[in-house]
Amino acid sequence: MVISMKLHSTREEIDEVCAIVKHYGYKVHSIEGEERVVIGVVGVGDVTACFESVESLPQVDNVVRISAPYKFVSREFRKGKTRIKVHGTEIGGDEFTVIAGPCSVESEEQIMRSAEMVAKAGAKLLRGGAYKPRTSPYDFQGMEEEGLKLLKKAQQATGLAIVTEVMGDRDVELVAQYADVMQVGARNMQNFMLLKALGKCGRPVLLKRGLSSTIKELLMSAEYIVAHGNPDVILCERGIRTFETATRNTCDISAIPVLNELTHLPVLLDPSHATGKRSLVPAISRAAVAVGADGLIIEVHPAPERALSDGAQSLDLTQFAKLMGDLKPYIALWKESRVNQVAAIAG
Ligand code: PEP
Ligand code: MN
Repeated sequence: MVISMKLHSTREEIDEVCAIVKHYGYKVHSIEGEERVVIGVVGVGDVTACFESVESLPQVDNVVRISAPYKFVSREFRKGKTRIKVHGTEIGGDEFTVIAGPCSVESEEQIMRSAEMVAKAGAKLLRGGAYKPRTSPYDFQGMEEEGLKLLKKAQQATGLAIVTEVMGDRDVELVAQYADVMQVGARNMQNFMLLKALGKCGRPVLLKRGLSSTIKELLMSAEYIVAHGNPDVILCERGIRTFETATRNTCDISAIPVLNELTHLPVLLDPSHATGKRSLVPAISRAAVAVGADGLIIEVHPAPERALSDGAQSLDLTQFAKLMGDLKPYIALWKESRVNQVAAIAG
């Protein structure tokens, strides 16, 4: 059950609701926005009695019963999509969003050139890891704060919003000084200390699905971030591990419509990690548009053959510009269907 208080409810009014909820055996988890407080009711209790008692209070705007274990991120909680404003652009709204850039920030020249070219081709956000989760400890680990500074410079030159990975809870404050969107990598999807810290980071979070995680686990991880105070979570399907070896991961394309049924959070697809192979990126990108993803996050490098990480799955700048052109008619259809969806929800 989730209780939305009326705008500007007083502390006493909120406490009264919490006391009733606890009286019926539940735990309270509240999110305090600037104008509105939303109270999540979790645990086991007398649901009907609690519902009726709370619903009748004058300070309560509405109460929704939510059967899923994830409350705040479920579709039952909110019918319309969550729209997330990021540095002059919006994810989850009426525009299909493309995030592009190299796997890792490697040098000033590399990131500046990438930023200029992806902006020119129509990307709205620049990706690039300064902290890299590598399978081998001997591989390039990222430029760390130096890389963050270069990302900032690229933003100043192009106006692109910055998406970059944060690997540990102790780095959240530092990364948030540079990033517009905090990326949680697949390997960290269940790093609960990190998820809790991101609840308080004041920046939208791009949460990637774990290599062997179910959709329910992904949503529970998103719930961690929201329950700890940050409603701006963007989900990302990036391929999962299966018995198949022809691709680096298996792209679970059905995860996109499944997530669109289960949650109001925006959903992106990462065709680069999902396939591991640049020749497959265009086809999977078209599929993402067709199945209703809110956007793509694509690896692009000025010289993929010399990339320090993930070169084989990175497009060069010309290939990326071509892909953006080829996606246009698909995105036009996407927009039509998005307008219809929004109208249907508004009734
Ligand atoms: C990345 O985006 O470069 C990355 C490491 O992705 P993932 O966490 O999905 O493997
Ligand atoms: Mn990568």
